[in-house]
Amino acid sequence: MLSSELSAVSSGLNHWIEVDLGALESNVQALRQAVQPSGLIGVVKANAYGHGAHTALALQGMGLEGLAVAWVSEAVALRRAGVTCRVLAMEHVTQAEVAAVVRDEIEVCCHSLALGKLLALRAQQSGGSVRVHIKVDTGLHRFGLSVNEAVVLAEALRLLPGIEVVGLWTHMANADEPDDSFSDAQNAVFAAAVEALPWIPFRHVANSATGLRRSAMRYEGVRVGVSLYGVVPDNTPDPGVRPVLSLRARVARVVQLQRGEGVSYGLEWRADGPSEAGLIPVGYADGWRRSLGNRGEVLIHGQRVPMIGRVCMDQFLVDVTGMGVVEGDVVTLLGSDGDETMSAAEIAGLTGTIPWETLATLGRRLPRLYLREGVVEAVEPPL
Ligand SMILES: *Cc1c(COP(=O)(O)O)cnc(C)c1O
Repeated sequence: MLSSELSAVSSGLNHWIEVDLGALESNVQALRQAVQPSGLIGVVKANAYGHGAHTALALQGMGLEGLAVAWVSEAVALRRAGVTCRVLAMEHVTQAEVAAVVRDEIEVCCHSLALGKLLALRAQQSGGSVRVHIKVDTGLHRFGLSVNEAVVLAEALRLLPGIEVVGLWTHMANADEPDDSFSDAQNAVFAAAVEALPWIPFRHVANSATGLRRSAMRYEGVRVGVSLYGVVPDNTPDPGVRPVLSLRARVARVVQLQRGEGVSYGLEWRADGPSEAGLIPVGYADGWRRSLGNRGEVLIHGQRVPMIGRVCMDQFLVDVTGMGVVEGDVVTLLGSDGDETMSAAEIAGLTGTIPWETLATLGRRLPRLYLREGVVEAVEPPL
């Protein structure tokens, strides 16, 4: 199942995440094909949906227009990691972040003239300019301005030396719902802003679902997040993407149980006969949710194996009775083993959430191994 090099690198690890850069690249190509001639903005917020910072480095050179994160602090971290392409911080910028925005050449969403003036001043002091995007609140009522406010601000910013208004954008509320009427209403509001601000060159409104479903809403760029990582939103055609991430561990111990003995906190699960329990070194602190206790499954030896007892902060148990499982055997929590696959969508379904959350909450203490055709290209953090 694992390449020989991956077996060697992972032999000393209790747990790890594999990021398949070949799958990532093929997803980029499938998405480019699906939305062309529009471009792609790769959304790498939240540690690249749990895939780790090297993901952003790898995405450079795959033909994206640029990358997007939520916060300036995330954009600064990308620069520190060596990312040199265009990076947009999509959400609220504080005045204290202005210096970092200019220093690290981060594109930001400018929401007020006061912020624009600070950005312009700082940019002029350093002899450069700042690229800003204007966000229109078309109905999600998260971040953004009304059309009138957006027009007034954009025209004022246009006159400030040191500021380049490069983008106009919005975000959809019901992108992956079967009924498109609210998306249509949002796009109609956005179209009024586009009409009033024809000089802004780059318009972007679509996330994965809108971009794949609605050709009229692709404009110059589509902000692809979850689909980049191989997850297709509900009610959305699959452009041919595949999962990029696998979560694996090695069995830390196999314990023999007598009938009636229990496992984990509260001893909620008890053996109904002589049994073997495997200890899996991943817990809720790693994003493996406590609500999976006594409900979830993992893959061992290519078979589905039930989780037993409560999930602890750092580990949980599975029933491996009669399977010949020994310490060090590979466990797949997300990904494929033989003919079986555990998807982020299945785990999300069991835990009452969505694949976005399942991926984005995978813990930072799990090492990420970046693979290309079975060869480990990078490890984060370094082993
Ligand atoms: C997270 C996010 C995206 C990406 O959404 P996906 O559904 O993961 O493709 C796009 N735009 C904004 C504003 C976001 O916050």
